[in-house]
Amino acid sequence: MSGASVTPIDPVELTRDLIRRPSVTPVDAGAMDVLERVLTGLGFACRRMVFEGPTGQGQDARIENLYARRGTAAPNLCFAGHTDVVPTGAETAWSAAPFEAEVRDGVLYGRGAVDMKGGIAAWVAAVSQILAEGEPDGSLSFLITGDEEGPALHGTKRVVQALTAEGEIIDACVVGEPSSQQALGDMIKIGRRGSLNTWITVHGKQGHVAYPDRAANPVPVLARLLARLDAHVLDAGYPEFQPSNLEITTIDVGNPATNLIPAEAKARLNIRFNPAQTGDGLIDWLNREAGAEQAASGLRITLEHLCSGEAFLTEKGAFVAAVQDAVEIETGRRPEASTTGGTSDARFIRAMCPVLELGLVGQTMHQVDERAPVAEIEALTRVYRRVIQTVLERLS
Ligand SMILES: [Zn+2]
Repeated sequence: MSGASVTPIDPVELTRDLIRRPSVTPVDAGAMDVLERVLTGLGFACRRMVFEGPTGQGQDARIENLYARRGTAAPNLCFAGHTDVVPTGAETAWSAAPFEAEVRDGVLYGRGAVDMKGGIAAWVAAVSQILAEGEPDGSLSFLITGDEEGPALHGTKRVVQALTAEGEIIDACVVGEPSSQQALGDMIKIGRRGSLNTWITVHGKQGHVAYPDRAANPVPVLARLLARLDAHVLDAGYPEFQPSNLEITTIDVGNPATNLIPAEAKARLNIRFNPAQTGDGLIDWLNREAGAEQAASGLRITLEHLCSGEAFLTEKGAFVAAVQDAVEIETGRRPEASTTGGTSDARFIRAMCPVLELGLVGQTMHQVDERAPVAEIEALTRVYRRVIQTVLERLS
């Protein structure tokens, strides 16, 4: 397809088309069809990658994913995003119907406007503008999933596994999450902390408080173990990151009686960790500490762990600098490269290439009346266009 035959896409109209597909995770509701149709029109080779399997919540899901690529030359610059959205909450609390994509006073209302249908549409529009002017040096690709806001088991994680197995090469990736804080482009995310949840149960023997020799009280054992864990300094930090931190989030015995030694005592904790740690390393440490307390007390202690993501950092090299320069040219602000906040699909993509997040101002994401100013979606389109040009130029 020659550049002259490409018609530029309107980012606001595409955002509205996407919002009108009520793709509440894990339902697709036709959102991926909208995107595939537009990208096919722009000359992308589109591959639908459907993955099925359990959601971990007692249900099976069928997840729509899309990998689309235009060109075969290196470098391959990828945009990653998700078409699924979080539920609306009470629709009566919204001032605009959440899936009608109403524009009122220059502001677009709707679930997904910010997180992140607006970002996807802005990148598509930026690509269409570039293609209308000629052929870029390199390849452009999209990695879009319908499973980011849920358990994220059959989305980007599996697409990355499949592409890696095929030998597909992506040289750099921008994730369109709403990374901006107060003004468009004031922050990009270049890494995230990892997260580990652990459930602890101390198994004792129930009995009468007046006859402690006939019972085994799990409560003091749990209290000692938690005190050991809480007192331990995991690390002193890592470049660009805060120190890793353990928080005890609940202690549950549930004993309504005053004269009873309970049979069990439970607790749960969460560790947010920097790249100095790994999920497996932390699990080993917790198991060792529990084993020591078990040996000292004679009471059985069981642990269950769930690591929902490893920590990662994209080093401040040519890619990060190219994105920062491009944002600064368009907005007049040099974005802070941050590692704060929750987790995102960038944690999976980092296995393939350097990855960062750049998108709209995230203040209304996941809220009632999620909305984005039309002018901000248009400004993001200009920012993305500059990012694409600068990154392809510098990585070539
Ligand atoms: Zn998101």
